[in-house]
Amino acid sequence: SKSLVWFRRDLRAFDHAPLHHALRSSQQVYCVFVYDTDILDELPKDDRRLRFIHASLAQLDTELRRLGGYLIVRHGSARDEVVALAEELGIDAVHAGTDHEPSAIARDLAVAEQLAKRNCAFHTYKDQVIFEKQEVLTLAGGVFSVFTPYKNAWLKRLAAHPETLATYPVDAHADAFAPPTGAPAALPALEDIGFTSGEPPLPAGMDGAEAMFEAFVTEMADYGRARDFPAEEGTSRLSAHLRFGTTSIRHLVRSARDMVQSGTGGTGASVWLSELIWRDFYAMVLSQNPHVVERSFKPAFDAVEWETGAEADALFAAWCEGRTGYPLVDAAMLQLNQTGFMHNRLRMVTASFLTKDLGIDWRRGERYFARQLNDYELASNNGGWQWAASTGCDAQPWFRIFNPVTQSTRFDARGEFIRRYLPQLAKLDGKQIHAPWLVKPDVLAERGVVLGRDYPAPVVEHDAARQRTLERFAVVKKVV
Ligand code: FAD
Repeated sequence: SKSLVWFRRDLRAFDHAPLHHALRSSQQVYCVFVYDTDILDELPKDDRRLRFIHASLAQLDTELRRLGGYLIVRHGSARDEVVALAEELGIDAVHAGTDHEPSAIARDLAVAEQLAKRNCAFHTYKDQVIFEKQEVLTLAGGVFSVFTPYKNAWLKRLAAHPETLATYPVDAHADAFAPPTGAPAALPALEDIGFTSGEPPLPAGMDGAEAMFEAFVTEMADYGRARDFPAEEGTSRLSAHLRFGTTSIRHLVRSARDMVQSGTGGTGASVWLSELIWRDFYAMVLSQNPHVVERSFKPAFDAVEWETGAEADALFAAWCEGRTGYPLVDAAMLQLNQTGFMHNRLRMVTASFLTKDLGIDWRRGERYFARQLNDYELASNNGGWQWAASTGCDAQPWFRIFNPVTQSTRFDARGEFIRRYLPQLAKLDGKQIHAPWLVKPDVLAERGVVLGRDYPAPVVEHDAARQRTLERFAVVKKVV
């Protein structure tokens, strides 16, 4: 029999559930990736993520060729391309990793239906997360909506089913790969599909992921402390690799669990494992509550009225472009715009600022992050935004409002991160840099800063904004 493995967010050739099952169950296995115009048509032509995908596909093809196979790359609507290719090659079964995003579920259903008409099966496998859908439930059999008990149940289930972390080997059945006879020697260039080529925003592919992971493991012991400080390289930066599956979540969780058990990762390893569990948590929340894509997790919060109109639009633009006058917020937005990455602490600070200081709908911020983040994924982004906006599952309570200046003095005490992205403030000292409007104009001028000329005056006053937010959310108090 003939199989086709459809690569989507699993761009690797090791520990790969769909590839493993296809190789075990058929005589000839083909591999395809589709540059899906249903997704790509929405993106700017210089999107950084395309460069990451392109470089990762090159490594994937090289590795598949080493194993005896190759990667077919198509460009078009994935719904049609996969069905057409399956027909062309006389495929009996298409294999892919389960995707929990509602639009991907709809796409996969449509493809399965078309394939069925041609007597071709469509199999999906859990590959992106450790536990999915309803695998981790409360004692009463319900879906969790609070993280800590979910995490405890998740850990318990893993202890009871350690085989969940077993590798899905690829090389053991490599003789089933269809050989690259007659296949083009090179994959399409980004220009061929209408995008600009260039260096990926971070080391790409399986090699990039492994090198970054190895470097991070040596710092693991300090993760629990270092992860909160954006000026430090205290986190793994593996999020884009997890998003595109250039690393395997089982591999990372196995390593973290082993480090916890052996004590080699200090306290850091268990904190890091918790973060990986947050990722499973938000994937579960999305799959069990797909309404969160458009609406609040908690319906009562749909009554909150966000600011709209020209003034809100202008404030939103200032936020996007890093012109709010709050240095930590602006430096964070510039990090996002310039690199496609933003530190977790800063994602919380900027999301809180947009929703609680500017009173702007979390969905607008979420969409902006979706366009900019290299690691953008619907479940975690939506979860993070609804957490910060207080509308979400196990979210920050609505009356607890981050003070952007306090966050700045706590997490970037000496202003190192701020200076990196706002060089015009470089001469301000560790006290002045967090709130330049509080410094006397002549002192500021001595350090080369005139507010309104070199750096904006704050677009809102935090205490007044805080009051407005408490009033805005009072409607929730009435509903609940
Ligand atoms: P590390 O600290 O090394 O953590 C390891 C991994 O754990 C991460 O790569 C990620 O896969 C996972 N993880 C860590 N924190 C979280 C979290 N809070 N929720 C879910 N998973 C987590 N993460 C994304 O992957 N994609 C997004 O689109 C995204 N959007 C976010 C939006 C907001 C408003 C907020 C507050 C958080 C968002 N996060 C998102 C979560 C988190 O900020 C990033 O995963 C993290 O900053 C990535 O850096 P890292 O790989 O160095 O993380």
